[in-house]
Amino acid sequence: MEMVTIEKILSYDRSGVKPVIVRLLEPLGGMGAYVKPGELVLLKPNMLSAKPPEAAVTTHPEVLRAVIELVQEAGGKAVVGDSPGVGRFTTVAAKSGMMKVVEETGAQLIGFHDSVEIYGSGLFKRFELARPYLEADRIINLPKLKTHEMMTMTCAVKNLFGAVVGTAKAAWHLKAGADREMFARMLLEIYLLRKPDLNIVDAIIAMEGNGPGSGDPRQVGLLLAGVNPVAVDVIAGELLSIPKNLLYVERAAGRLDLEGADRTAIITSGLPPEQARISGFRLPHKSDLQWGLPPFLKNRLRHYLTPRPFAVMEKCRLCGICLAACPPGAITITESSLHFDHRKCIGCFCCRELCPYAALDIREGPLLSFIKKYV
Ligand code: SF4
Ligand code: SF4
Repeated sequence: MEMVTIEKILSYDRSGVKPVIVRLLEPLGGMGAYVKPGELVLLKPNMLSAKPPEAAVTTHPEVLRAVIELVQEAGGKAVVGDSPGVGRFTTVAAKSGMMKVVEETGAQLIGFHDSVEIYGSGLFKRFELARPYLEADRIINLPKLKTHEMMTMTCAVKNLFGAVVGTAKAAWHLKAGADREMFARMLLEIYLLRKPDLNIVDAIIAMEGNGPGSGDPRQVGLLLAGVNPVAVDVIAGELLSIPKNLLYVERAAGRLDLEGADRTAIITSGLPPEQARISGFRLPHKSDLQWGLPPFLKNRLRHYLTPRPFAVMEKCRLCGICLAACPPGAITITESSLHFDHRKCIGCFCCRELCPYAALDIREGPLLSFIKKYV
């Protein structure tokens, strides 16, 4: 049996967060069950991009502060690290409020730059993961609960993709292509190579709509914790009432028969799920590939069904960040505009996720628009 704990909390008020996290961890044995004196403990928050805490893009600094303090009280040495999707690590740390918390608590910041080869036995044989991620004695994963235009939801498992350093993330998007289940499988294989010891989810203010970079903050008022990130994600998806067929990571975990994927083998503690359920949580644009079509038809029709990004030129500053982030090189920039080669586009939405000016929007694939209009 896997256990996921749930606690209600409505604000990031400093005095309130830590006692709730203590309560959250009690049924799991408390922080002392995961951190021993002298151990180097890597805290892995979501540091997607340089946004302020109120944008709900990154893990809130007060959640980080509380966990750092608990690690230190257990005798551990707290180190905070990640590899942002865009921007310099120190810029993201400063803007997100995490740098200040690290300075105030005497923890240490460590950007993921250096990576180490590690070999898997699954579908993907070779990964390069951040050295501090592989070498830490303990890992505490601190995801932010958000929608995700490619994967529907990002929570505990997806947050571990930060262990892939910088631009290598784009290469993995390219390897998995437009196949979300393949991408989910890759995420799970990263998780299996180096499992986090504990996962604590910041869902006090989550993100709904077109996350993970451009969605809307939404008060969910919850913290979740568990040892198994798959089980944590299963419960998070259930609380948001996300249809199971859109939860690619959980589906892939079920196919692999991973522990935590089976809801009947998860017990919850703290706030009962019935009382924690969130209604009307807005999901991203509907996926194109959820029609139950056989694979050969999906592949043939993908170009016509796939939602595609386009630039809102009034907002676009032609900064080139999306161009650098696009795995298949489907974007070109001229002096005055931005162009997409939709034949090359794999629908990963990295461009939209990383655009700092919210200048990209999504249109449905031409076949889907036609059907909606005329059928
Ligand atoms: S769409 Fe966004 S990221 Fe791309 S060039 Fe324009 S402003 Fe920059
Ligand atoms: S254009 Fe955007 S959605 Fe398409 S492949 Fe490039 S980054 Fe991904």
